Amino acid sequence: MVGPNTFEFKSYDVPQPEPGGLVLKTRRANVCGSDIHQYHYNSPALKQAVLGHEFVGDVAALGAGVKTDNAGTSVHVGDRVVPVYYVTCRHCPSCLRGDLGMCQNALREWSKNPDQPPHFFGGLSTHYYVSPDQYFFKVPEELDDAVAAGANCGLAQMIFALDHTRLRDDSTLLIQGAGGLGLYATAVAKERGARVIVIEGVRDRIALAKQFGADEIVDMNEFDTSEARVERVLELTTGKGPDIVLEVTGVAAAFPESVALARVGGEVVSVGNLNVGEGFEVSIAPGTVTRKSLTVRGALRYDPWYLNRALAFLSRTQERYPFESLTKQPHAFENLRDAIRDGESRSVARASIVF
Ligand SMILES: [Zn+2]
Ligand SMILES: [Zn+2]
Repeated sequence: MVGPNTFEFKSYDVPQPEPGGLVLKTRRANVCGSDIHQYHYNSPALKQAVLGHEFVGDVAALGAGVKTDNAGTSVHVGDRVVPVYYVTCRHCPSCLRGDLGMCQNALREWSKNPDQPPHFFGGLSTHYYVSPDQYFFKVPEELDDAVAAGANCGLAQMIFALDHTRLRDDSTLLIQGAGGLGLYATAVAKERGARVIVIEGVRDRIALAKQFGADEIVDMNEFDTSEARVERVLELTTGKGPDIVLEVTGVAAAFPESVALARVGGEVVSVGNLNVGEGFEVSIAPGTVTRKSLTVRGALRYDPWYLNRALAFLSRTQERYPFESLTKQPHAFENLRDAIRDGESRSVARASIVF
């Protein structure tokens, strides 16, 4: 990225890894919703930087001392791996508390200008540099690149977010938005026996939500106001409302609706909205949260070992859910602009690049 909505292709020499580091050759990378936010310059952290954080690559070179991944599996040049896209510095207050996903230096490497070595800081690039502070995991052989690429960040983040709710087998989870995150969350919740209601308006995404096991769909074309959707969801939950509402739309107006939808004593998890400041504000009566005794929680990133759980989840369940259809019709790297356009228009669940 060289400016708002602007990128350039640049070439650098591929570096040799320092002790404890790795160099990967990228195989496949997705364009996540947050890549689009960053591309629009709505992220405070990433400006002159390399986009991309959902990807899978082959080990091209191992730094001195790297013998295994973070799960203890031995790694060699040529193995497929996925890295956690941020660093865990282990020296900040969050890391000290054990909240590694909240590391205050998490984007220390990713946010660097690629003009400085080792250059390859983002996933939308032919190569990627894994720094010594970064977790990475070997990809199980049975997983295709198309399936493995989405483990980081989409699936890992959804397993993490739902682990931090009171989701049980008798819960009703309402998911606002059936993009990549919403579809992953549907699969995770179905595996735990919960009932899932999905609010979505894009036809292809509605079809995918059904394939991922959604029990009910609230079609935004039919229920086209917030009031109509709340009323419909109440009908579907015998007047009580869902136990948990998961917002993965990235649309600010979805948040007051989350609060309106959740049952008394229920939970709201805010994941999709990342932007702050003017243009991303909504009005809400805080009394609604108080009177309903809601638990409202934000969830950014995940603890790094969740990436390994996400890979195991995919291996275990890939026969039951069409993970590969999240990233249909991938683009070649030189056509990155088309993939970004797909991501912006929400015409696909996850836009994707093959190298
Ligand atoms: Zn992401
Ligand atoms: Zn830290």
